[in-house]
Amino acid sequence: MQSRLHWHCHFMQKLEDEPAIERANMWRAADGLREGEFSQQRFDAWARGQTGYPLVDACMRSLLATGWLTFRMRALLVSFASYSLWLHWRPTGLHLARQFLDFEPGIHWSQLQMQSGTTGINTLRIYNPDKQAIEQDPRGVFIRRWLPELAGLPGQYVHRPWTMPTGVQQAAGCLIGRDYPEPIVDHAAALREAKARFAILRHDPAARDQARSVAQRHGSRRDRRGAMQQDPIRQELASGKKPRRGRRPVDDSQRTFSFLADEPQAGGERPESTD
Ligand SMILES: Cc1cc2nc3c(=O)[nH]c(=O)nc-3n(C[C@H](O)[C@H](O)[C@H](O)COP(=O)(O)OP(=O)(O)OC[C@H]3O[C@@H](n4cnc5c(N)ncnc54)[C@H](O)[C@@H]3O)c2cc1C
Repeated sequence: MQSRLHWHCHFMQKLEDEPAIERANMWRAADGLREGEFSQQRFDAWARGQTGYPLVDACMRSLLATGWLTFRMRALLVSFASYSLWLHWRPTGLHLARQFLDFEPGIHWSQLQMQSGTTGINTLRIYNPDKQAIEQDPRGVFIRRWLPELAGLPGQYVHRPWTMPTGVQQAAGCLIGRDYPEPIVDHAAALREAKARFAILRHDPAARDQARSVAQRHGSRRDRRGAMQQDPIRQELASGKKPRRGRRPVDDSQRTFSFLADEPQAGGERPESTD
């Protein structure tokens, strides 16, 4: 709980430090990436829970009904909107903000940008909606609860209803394209396209320089062993010198917060994740 509260304040502090996070890409190299390609039709389908991807739709409809969602499922909704549908994070973030009972701008906009690849310093976290559905809701309990049109589907089709043969659709009382939509995009193709666009940016030297300055401002101060890079006593210890007299060794429990471990090194990147 304590580490969560630190995390909460850490993200609020980011917005205090840089209020533009609410509206502009932290990584300015990402400007223009999605801005000119907004599709109202895709946005509406996502915002109503009608994308044809059951877990994404169940999450959205559950959120619309209750005002709350777990961290992973918020991330899934944003990842799907930002990568699969290639929607800019600002309109999708506004829609989510209006639904969340716990809306907190500092956490929210930082997370929106992290889950959309526009911080420049975080791993591209692209969630596969089918894989997530099978892993997070193996028996389709959550999906059936929030998508009543899929309640009668046999278990093997509940995560991928578009693969149902016509006879099964009729028997289940759910015709794809009438009672529940076809997938709005081909997720695998959309993902390839999204990765290719980000790869171009990530190899651009000017974009890398911009990412470095984001890392300097917002990234972790820890080195690869977890020590604080700017801690003078750590630096003395690392250089082999004895700590100066009168200065006590650092108590890590007071100086480091576990939530920082979730952020990459300044200037560093973790491998891409597609879980
Ligand atoms: C796209 C996206 C948007 C989000 N928007 C918000 C938001 O508007 N408001 C909000 O409070 N949380 C937001 N979160 C973080 C997180 O999803 C929620 O805090 C979490 O779902 C709350 O669950 P809980 O009450 O069980 O908290 P616990 O996990 O038990 O944590 C207790 C408290 O710690 C804080 N906390 C938990 N996770 C985080 C986190 N990742 N970052 C910062 N603080 C955290 C919250 O204040 C939370 O109430 C967002 C996450 C994502 C991926």
